[in-house]
Amino acid sequence: MKKLVVFSGSGMSAESGISTFRDNGGLWEQYRIEEVATPQAWKRDSALVQEFYNLRRKQIIECQPNSAHTLIAQLEEKYLVTVITQNIDDLHERAGSTEVLHLHGNIRLSKSSGPNQEKAYYPIEGWELKNTDLCPDGLVLRPHVVWFGEEVPMYDVAMQHIAEADILVVIGTSLQVYPAAGLIHYAINAEARYLIDPNAAELNVPNSFGVIPMNAVEGMMKLLEELR
Ligand code: NAD
Repeated sequence: MKKLVVFSGSGMSAESGISTFRDNGGLWEQYRIEEVATPQAWKRDSALVQEFYNLRRKQIIECQPNSAHTLIAQLEEKYLVTVITQNIDDLHERAGSTEVLHLHGNIRLSKSSGPNQEKAYYPIEGWELKNTDLCPDGLVLRPHVVWFGEEVPMYDVAMQHIAEADILVVIGTSLQVYPAAGLIHYAINAEARYLIDPNAAELNVPNSFGVIPMNAVEGMMKLLEELR
């Protein structure tokens, strides 16, 4: 079986009803990123940060995977599929994908707000995480998401998968958030590379990419025709 790597961003979940990051003029659901998604924001007002992620988590739990997520899961019948997602939602898993690497964490999990050297993650029951919820180390639990300015611990693993890919499918990402966006350049062994995004014409990808300028659902159907 050939190895097919999917690299998804927030556009992947747009048709499930989850806002993308940049499509709202730089605001994420009315919040400024610096207020809620940085280590400084946590230091300044951890209750506000918890509230922001609680609302996102509640929304994600209520949303369903769309048929693009399902079509990606079904690719496992023909390919060895690894999904590398920048998304913190769990819609790929809920659609049935079995190998999903969350580059920027998973909002359904929590971790210590300390250094978390053991890399221990704890499932969150329901949608709410409170500042009174403590880790075994005694510190407050925070969402398992990678904030702006933090390291991306899964980067090297993701890079390795992309370097080994026979086929790379990039979908629903503006390729503006680094270092994640740089990953597409490691597909040195791929025989085919695709980009699915309605704004594909404005995105910066090498000429070696086959461009499918469509939404995720329509674009995945087109991709399946091309792979046939
Ligand atoms: P981005 O907002 O910068 O880019 C979104 C891309 O999706 C754009 O290129 C846009 O043209 C495209 N798009 C819009 N509607 C689409 C559709 N229906 N189908 C396919 N593509 C569509 O997002 P990004 O590049 O993913 O970077 C934002 C960061 O914010 C991510 O790293 C992620 O951690 C975080 N984020 C996650 C979620 C989530 O988990 N669902 C939501 C918002 C933000």
